[in-house]
Amino acid sequence: MHAARLERARARMDEAGIDALLCSVGPDLPYLTGYEAMPLERLTMLVVPRDGDAVLVVPRLEAPRVEEQPGVFTVEPWDETEDPIARVVAHVGPARSIGIGDHTWARFVLALQDALPDARFRSATAVTGPLRVVKDAAEIEALRAAAHVVDEIAIAMRAQPFAGRTERDVHRELVERMLDGGHQRANFAIVAGGPNAASPHHEPTDRVISPGEVVLCDFGGTRHGYCSDITRMFHVGEPPADVCDAYAALVVAQEAGVAAATVGTACETVDAAARRVLTEAGLGDAFVHRTGHGIGMDAHEDPYVVEGNATPIVAGHAFSIEPGVYLTNRFGLRLEDIVVAAEAGPDRLNRAPRDLAVVG
Ligand code: ZN
Ligand code: ZN
Ligand code: ZN
Repeated sequence: MHAARLERARARMDEAGIDALLCSVGPDLPYLTGYEAMPLERLTMLVVPRDGDAVLVVPRLEAPRVEEQPGVFTVEPWDETEDPIARVVAHVGPARSIGIGDHTWARFVLALQDALPDARFRSATAVTGPLRVVKDAAEIEALRAAAHVVDEIAIAMRAQPFAGRTERDVHRELVERMLDGGHQRANFAIVAGGPNAASPHHEPTDRVISPGEVVLCDFGGTRHGYCSDITRMFHVGEPPADVCDAYAALVVAQEAGVAAATVGTACETVDAAARRVLTEAGLGDAFVHRTGHGIGMDAHEDPYVVEGNATPIVAGHAFSIEPGVYLTNRFGLRLEDIVVAAEAGPDRLNRAPRDLAVVG
């Protein structure tokens, strides 16, 4: 699998005129090799020359974690007293156009630029982006399995008490459940009660959740390299009419977004489909962000479901559809599912009930 991906990367390098590809921290490296670099001051870097063998330059103490793949790449550990930049430079050779991963730490990019004054550095996304954006069958199943974990959590939370608990306490429960459910990492767990939910990326606080409040829970993690991301809404006790009306519009908007996400449709058309519903309900100004983002090995990646992105959806694109309504000092609502585009139509990975769950 990784050999095939490297082969496709080399073909892209050819098209994009890139002589050498450098991948460090971030998802490009595990996508191409199965190995994820530690985000450390010690450099890990895969060097892929267009016409040479790929080499993974890795700190000696991390080398035992690398699963070697003969014929795909060789592992080259460097010792504590060595200069890893010199090793990378040696493998880059006479390359003039270098693609470097978006997540690479600036200190390494700067050191490489100093060591290779004649090279032109470009984003490795020119090579890896078009590959990673289209998920193969195994990747879709990995995303589905991750989605299933957070679905189960969303369902379990419907039976949990919220009133009297702090946002931080519910946050901790979501994180724990993601890890218990087989995620290696919890990436985020937004818990926003009452007026706090009007801030889309609210950080959980010690504020106590009270009866009569909405609670927005948006959480996701990483399972075997692939991300989950779901938002479900809870209400402590029976919701008042204004919340019910806004939520009803939100459900229709989300459905419209999902239904519009067919192969060949521009990403911005999907955004417009969800937005139109909220605008017609008088809530257009309260929907302050794009409709969605791509998801894969990164929690947020291409394709972005946003006005101005005319990219047509192709089978294998995976993205969130997550319209929201944010009313300052009152409440906020969001509903989010991950969708995979398929020739047969949009395939929603999340199956947890989408109604406003009434909790205690
Ligand atoms: Zn977000
Ligand atoms: Zn989310
Ligand atoms: Zn999201």
